[in-house]
Amino acid sequence: MPTMGALHAGHRSLLRTARADAPSLVASVFVNPRQFGAGEDFERYPRDEQADLELLRDEGVDLAFLPSADAIYPLRAETRVDPGSVGRVLEGAARPGHFVGVATVVTVLFGLVAPTRAYFGQKDGQQAVVIRRVVRDLALPVEIRVLPTVREPDGLAVSSRNRYLNPEERRQAAALSRALSAMADAYSRGERDADALRSTMRGTLREAPLGEVDYVSLADAETLEELVTVERPALASLAVRFPSARLIDCMPLPDTERAS
Ligand code: AMP
Repeated sequence: MPTMGALHAGHRSLLRTARADAPSLVASVFVNPRQFGAGEDFERYPRDEQADLELLRDEGVDLAFLPSADAIYPLRAETRVDPGSVGRVLEGAARPGHFVGVATVVTVLFGLVAPTRAYFGQKDGQQAVVIRRVVRDLALPVEIRVLPTVREPDGLAVSSRNRYLNPEERRQAAALSRALSAMADAYSRGERDADALRSTMRGTLREAPLGEVDYVSLADAETLEELVTVERPALASLAVRFPSARLIDCMPLPDTERAS
């Protein structure tokens, strides 16, 4: 299970499922410089190796893999894995090069660890789509499991970046998950018009005036092409920029958020 550390309840949930599934469990902690753009939070991304190791031990991980950047990217490592169109929209449009960085590091980690299965969180829904695409397109011999998002009591998806938020931003940040729930309610009442569902999300996000909406998307769950009508599996995603942190959240439709 690949992580960037600063481990929390979301990671814990993935580790527990993986532990119950697998005879041996490897977790990596690597803050991957190549998936951060210039001016992003690579330098200040929270790092706490001791706490991470304790949590990994506590969850019964067999091997904690904390590689150096040199171990992942040896001298003259120039190969990049480009997942194509699924990596260029949404987060990929907001953060150019991000998914090339993600796809490359995950491919290297798969090469080094050679797992039978790998576990990812639905929280980073586009990342899961990208990884599934890379595994399919490159015929990598690994099974991908995507597990449900762990949330705070008010619905905010647990994230290492939530600690950047000040109290008022933190209060308003719950609007992201409320927006997804409002959209899911409209969907369950039979609304299938994608623009109407996007408007429902935007309406709820107005409850977070400190947040500037980066995107509100309702896209095909596999290709991430924006939909006109929701008539096949879809992924609703949001990105909101608060002064102290940029937050993302997502929800699969119909409710396919389950181990698969
Ligand atoms: P990160 O350390 O942020 O790269 O996350 C490592 C893995 O944990 C990724 O597959 C994330 O999607 C997953 N993850 C992060 N936060 C959560 C959460 N709140 N619920 C479920 N999975 C999560």
